[in-house]
Amino acid sequence: MAYKISDDCIACGACEPECPTDSITAGDPIYVIDPETCIDCGACANVCPVDAPKPE
Ligand code: SF4
Ligand code: SF4
Repeated sequence: MAYKISDDCIACGACEPECPTDSITAGDPIYVIDPETCIDCGACANVCPVDAPKPE
C-alpha cells in the first residue's frame, strides 16, 4: 500500500515537508510519491488543500 497523488494536485508543496520518509518530490507538473518508501501514514493527505493524495 502507498498513497498516490492525483491530478487534482496544484503543486503547492505543502505535503513535501510533512512526509516522515521523504517520499514526496516535486514532479512535472504535479508532486509525486515514491511507492517504495511511502508508509501509508496519511500525513500528506491531512495537509493537502485539494485532497489529492489518496490511498491506493
Ligand atoms: Fe509520506 Fe505518509 Fe504521504 Fe506516504 S502517506 S507519502 S509516508 S506523508
Ligand atoms: Fe499537491 Fe496537495 Fe501536495 Fe499541494 S499538498 S503539492 S496540492 S498533493
